Amino acid sequence: MIDLFGGHPETNSLSDASDVQFLDTTLRDGEQAPGISLTPDEKARIARKLDDAAIDVIEAGSACTGAGERETIQRVTDLDLDATVTSFCRGIQNDIDLAMDCDVDGINLVVPASDKHVTEKVGTTPEENVATTADLVEYAKDHGLWVEVIGEDGSRADLEYLEELMAAALAAGADRVCYADTVGHATPDRTLEVVSTLSDLGPTSTHTHDDLGLAVTNALVSIAAGADLVHGTVNGIGERAGNVALEEVAIALDHGYGVETMNLEAVYELAQLVANKTGIPLAPNKAVVGQNAFTHESGIHTDGTLKDDAMYEPYPPEKVGRKRRLALGKHAGRAGVEAALDEHDMEVTDDQLGEIVSRVKKIGDRGKRVTDADLLRIAEEVSGSDREQRVELLDLTAVSGVSPPTASIRLDVDGETRENAATGSGPVDAAMNAAVEALSHEIDAALESYHVDAITGGTDAIVTVEVEMSRGDDTVAVSKSDSDITGASVTAMVEAMDRLIERSDRVIADD
Ligand SMILES: [Zn+2]
Repeated sequence: MIDLFGGHPETNSLSDASDVQFLDTTLRDGEQAPGISLTPDEKARIARKLDDAAIDVIEAGSACTGAGERETIQRVTDLDLDATVTSFCRGIQNDIDLAMDCDVDGINLVVPASDKHVTEKVGTTPEENVATTADLVEYAKDHGLWVEVIGEDGSRADLEYLEELMAAALAAGADRVCYADTVGHATPDRTLEVVSTLSDLGPTSTHTHDDLGLAVTNALVSIAAGADLVHGTVNGIGERAGNVALEEVAIALDHGYGVETMNLEAVYELAQLVANKTGIPLAPNKAVVGQNAFTHESGIHTDGTLKDDAMYEPYPPEKVGRKRRLALGKHAGRAGVEAALDEHDMEVTDDQLGEIVSRVKKIGDRGKRVTDADLLRIAEEVSGSDREQRVELLDLTAVSGVSPPTASIRLDVDGETRENAATGSGPVDAAMNAAVEALSHEIDAALESYHVDAITGGTDAIVTVEVEMSRGDDTVAVSKSDSDITGASVTAMVEAMDRLIERSDRVIADD
């Protein structure tokens, strides 16, 4: 039998946890993940968004890393945010000096806590480590810094020693101490044991990693054990399996226990910004921010959702700044297809609906998502309604390898030829810019999302490009497959804009 928590008497009800704060370490621990390097501009943009999302503490980087990193931290402190801005520091006085050079409000002072880290990594003795830690805390406090002391590898440390070390830090004036499950090793029981011991000493933070898939659970257990500051990152990026994802802790606390933390409505934009700038995409099934988190495809679920939004959702998507999506694919049913057609103001008979559903399923059977454009094309074919295409792509030339990449485009708009050229960050971007500009008289459309999947391997791979364009509240998704990514992108975009133009005409005619 698993004796979870060992009948521990010291847990508090999470609902009673008041004032749980967040420390975001996307810019430090998050950036330490393989393959991520953020420019000063990117870090400043993310920091500003974190501040907008009401994150309490932002660990902006590690000042000892180098001059470039210090410039970045300085950029963040210059923003004059509401959040407390800190730098990570090793247990070395020079690290604290370098952090102060960047005008930070505070430091996250990391000192070794486990035998492995004390003797093998840092090469000191347990006694010396305690004395040095106390001296460094005093030094930092004398210079007016907010100080949090992190006992590195604390989850694997001897608990008595960790207690002694953290007590010395608090006695020397540290504002708080932090339980660090540095390698994501701890079970919830172990987390409870260590955090409740530390929180008896003074204000305690918790820093959990997801190597066992327990990062959120351990963060929640930490709060139940008395911790009141949670370290984590946006989207859970970080070393190895990552840090705890702050948005997951935030929604679990809000939904499960009515405890408010960060501004939840800001979560999705923040997730997209970080995914974009770090190049680490969001897994479709990721909690809260994954593409599928509020998407319903199966007939049963779609039908249920149309009857009651909450049927297959724990909380409404708007809560985290998102929208619900009903997707069409092999699991589609009549209710879902009818609702989608309704959204596009298409009316069909019962028989036609049956035929449309079966064709939608056929496309779905091939493993494809059925986009708005696919559905409309099918519906037009089945109902025999002829649609007048207003925009057609005649020709496209894109040149890369020149600076800046350039594209020229020729369109047929209402029977007239229109040409335009534009530049961009790459050939696709240049071609898309050329198309949007060429049609700017007809429509003020914005690109909502752009997604590419390679279906086959190799440099001649067939790619599927999915483009979602919007005009006001109206959105249209179109996907195209081709081995020419620029061609597929522009064809999809032009078709989306053609659909939007047609619909805006219809709205004007209806008025
Ligand atoms: Zn960490």
